[in-house]
Amino acid sequence: MKIAIQDLSKIYPNGHKALSHVNLEIERGMFGLLGPNGAGKSSLMRILVTLQEYSSGNIKINGLDINKKRKQIRKLIGYLPQDFTFFSKLKTWEFLDYAAQLSGKTRRKERRLAVEEMLEQVGLFNVRNRLANKLSGGMKRRLGIAQTLIGDPEVIVIDEPTTGLDPEERIRFRNILSNLSQKDVAIILSTHIVGDISSTCSNMALLHKGEVVFKGAPEELIQQA
Ligand code: ADP
Ligand code: ADP
Repeated sequence: MKIAIQDLSKIYPNGHKALSHVNLEIERGMFGLLGPNGAGKSSLMRILVTLQEYSSGNIKINGLDINKKRKQIRKLIGYLPQDFTFFSKLKTWEFLDYAAQLSGKTRRKERRLAVEEMLEQVGLFNVRNRLANKLSGGMKRRLGIAQTLIGDPEVIVIDEPTTGLDPEERIRFRNILSNLSQKDVAIILSTHIVGDISSTCSNMALLHKGEVVFKGAPEELIQQA
């Protein structure tokens, strides 16, 4: 798994430059994208998951140009947007079962196994029969990550997952992410909270006003500060 971002810039139609000459190489494991509000994190993530166009530069995922191979790229990617919400009248397990169907799991038995494993993995097995929209905020966030993971993506893009979570839920979330990083997947996590990254990521970049101002291990950044 390899993501290569070369000289990437994004200028919005109103003239705002959200990303400026970004160069990043991301391989398997967990990669943290740190930056304050407005730094360009969401823009970069939406571009990576092919939901937004970029202005100039080049992005390849496993050698595939994301502009030319959109369909293939989308099959590889799981994306959890920052404002992920659901208006679902489904039970928690049904919600995940539906997500599994959408990801192409057609056999009932296969889905049942995948859904149950996923419910265990994110700690929602005990509330599997509760309506998804009746879950607590932290549980909803975990259901969001479960929905993202159930299609077995090779690239996982998660935008500000811990914003608004209480400390206990934040730790649960970090633990779920740490377990993932043992698989052969690339996980890109954006956050404005250093602690989310230092406890989970082996590599990171710091974005400031659309520019990468630091690349390396989180410990190096903390030593510099
Ligand atoms: P972050 O996720 O780090 O908060 P964003 O990528 O959301 O940063 O935003 C980066 C900058 O681009 C901000 O200044 C934001 O106001 C601006 N921006 C984001 N989306 C748009 C848009 N659709 N049109 C114009 N400017 C935008
Ligand atoms: P269109 O057919 O108009 O080009 P798109 O194919 O761009 O529409 O996207 C349709 C919808 O699929 C989007 O609104 C988005 O919600 C979803 N989508 C597309 N790509 C992804 C992705 N990589 N991750 C998550 N959702 C996606």
